[in-house]
Amino acid sequence: MNYEDLGFKCGIEIHQRLDTRKLFCNCSSSMDEEPEGEVKRKLGAVPGEMGEMDPAALYEFLRDRCFVYKIYPNESCEVELDEEPPHEVRGEALEIALQVSKMLDCDVPYEIQPMRKTVIDGSNPSGFQRTMLVGLDGELDTSKGSVGVENVCLEEESAQILGRQDNTVTYGLNRLGIPLVEIGTAPDIKGPEHARETAEKIGKMLRATGRVQRGIGSIRQDVNVSIEDGSRIEVKGLQDLDILEETVRLEVERQWSLLKIKEELEERSASIPGEVFDVDEVFEGSDSSFYERVLKDKDIKAFVLKGFGGLLAREISGGKTFGKELSEYAEAHGPGGIIHTDEDLGRYELVDEFEDLEEELSAEEEDVVVVVAGKDGLNEAVEAVAERAEEAMEGIPEETRDSNEDGTTSYLRPLPGEARMYPETDVPPIKVSEERMKNIEVPESLEKKKEELVNEGLSEHLADEILDSRLYGLFEEIKDKLGMDVSTLVNLMTVELKDLRKRKDISVKDLTDRDLVEILEAIDEGEVPKDSFGDIVEKVVEGKRSAEEVISKTEALDEETLEKMVVEVLEEKEDLLGDEKAFKKLMGPVMQKVGGKVDGSKVSEVLKEKIEEMK
Ligand SMILES: [Zn+2]
Repeated sequence: MNYEDLGFKCGIEIHQRLDTRKLFCNCSSSMDEEPEGEVKRKLGAVPGEMGEMDPAALYEFLRDRCFVYKIYPNESCEVELDEEPPHEVRGEALEIALQVSKMLDCDVPYEIQPMRKTVIDGSNPSGFQRTMLVGLDGELDTSKGSVGVENVCLEEESAQILGRQDNTVTYGLNRLGIPLVEIGTAPDIKGPEHARETAEKIGKMLRATGRVQRGIGSIRQDVNVSIEDGSRIEVKGLQDLDILEETVRLEVERQWSLLKIKEELEERSASIPGEVFDVDEVFEGSDSSFYERVLKDKDIKAFVLKGFGGLLAREISGGKTFGKELSEYAEAHGPGGIIHTDEDLGRYELVDEFEDLEEELSAEEEDVVVVVAGKDGLNEAVEAVAERAEEAMEGIPEETRDSNEDGTTSYLRPLPGEARMYPETDVPPIKVSEERMKNIEVPESLEKKKEELVNEGLSEHLADEILDSRLYGLFEEIKDKLGMDVSTLVNLMTVELKDLRKRKDISVKDLTDRDLVEILEAIDEGEVPKDSFGDIVEKVVEGKRSAEEVISKTEALDEETLEKMVVEVLEEKEDLLGDEKAFKKLMGPVMQKVGGKVDGSKVSEVLKEKIEEMK
């Protein structure tokens, strides 16, 4: 596809959690505790504000939900619960945000004013999120020219949804209030690959500060996409660059397909009569097992889409059909989706029933009959699907969509209007002097750091590994203090630890920096062999023991004992001695016997010697 000809427009918004304590209180941002209790709340909107509530906010409010907040010993307090006013803005977090603004060549306001942004989806017990603009009008160099940076904000992370049941949503307060840097680009992105490049560049820039969180969920992208005659669609919560690229591609395809459908509906003079029928009776007594299982205890409603025949079965993007697109509007209100005459009704064993239904509703060959079944939210679901079908004749509705793993998206809610903001009166504004900005150091770019590491003797691969690791800071701190060669050190700190996670599900997070350094030092000083690294880490983590204790119990084998062990193995496997591949075949059994107490290179040396002697 030629994206320029399509009138492609795209901007991204990047949200990166910072590796500091929380923004407005002193709670930890680590998110590794279990909850210790919960608080129940019902959010109400202030009546005066209702009149000017934007559609997205109203939508959430009308769903009338109850919220449960999980509280944590060190990761939430009265501030998250809105029972205590926010403390001052965390200076360290502001410093990082200013640093990022400087890296992106932004103008920094002379005075930074914390604001409140209304949120009533329950993700913040106060009903608003605090945010502050720290930079604007910046730019980022990319391979396809400069991409404008509209704003850099420092804000508080929302609470995350832990579960939903009926009208109750449960949130975890441990995530609420973690400092987040939000970077919004101008719609200058030129295509899916360019979207990826832009996100990747900004991500690297953020990591170069050395003060951002790592791991799943710590960086998220929202992407805005539209094509000519299409609409602005916001896809939320992308966490993977491959998926981001695919999502942009598929969203363009979706809009393009929907515009084709619009043209066809026009040609066919399609219409939606609007009458909704109660059709429980048509299905009563059906011997379909799907009816028994899914429909029987629900109310069933049906309506006709005139002239839509065949279109609901059409694939619009990434394997999803137009019928599925409509179905998600029903799902958003509670019912499980829709059943329609454009799909294989044999699957539901409901062929005869739908024939009766078509007759009863006087549907013609070129029409589609849509059925929605449910209890709660049924009327809203029917209305939403009919409205969405109506919109298909006019174009594409602007909306917020959720991202899926395969790059497709699902309807989430209407696109919010411009967020309404009010000054946060509990937190004083912060003056940023020119002097202060001048003194903020811009970190070296990751590309530059990589170059230096390669010059120090690392392979490109190992340089990438350590730059991408949350241990990078620690590595910089210790590399000159240890005598071991830097490749060996990085290999242990990245490849070996990753391998351990894959094989034994042991994460670096379970190991304190201090323990790790102690193990590395012991290896460096020859107290324990390099090959026992994995074993020691495992014993420390699994046994909840200190590195010192484990190291003291890990003896290195002396050469004499090693030789004895090798000879024992060779005697057992005497018949292999004459074999051309004796060394290859014997190395495994010998290593097993030695059990990581001596380095592989030493073992192989002794083994070769002994094979020669004994054959
Ligand atoms: Zn707190």
